[in-house]
Amino acid sequence: MAKRRHGKRKVSKRLTHHHRLPSSKGGRSTEDNISMVPDNAHRAWHGFALNYDALNIAKIINNHFIDPAYRFVCVKTEDVKCVIQFYKLLHE
Ligand SMILES: [Zn+2]
Repeated sequence: MAKRRHGKRKVSKRLTHHHRLPSSKGGRSTEDNISMVPDNAHRAWHGFALNYDALNIAKIINNHFIDPAYRFVCVKTEDVKCVIQFYKLLHE
């Protein structure tokens, strides 16, 4: 259990390796797929996200955790420019 300070969890200073694309889904231990994250945040992330893919994580967030007036959107990096253009068209 992480130490508490003023009622909030303290972010650990110990860092651990996290595979952005899980190794169970083919993620490699290469620099572009590894993030260094606080160990307590890392445990919390896997407690929440398990090894779901990004689309399923977004679905869980939308269905259970955020204000229903908002949608958490997951977009493949290669599609970001198209999504931004589409968004601009909708709001012009
Ligand atoms: Zn991890």
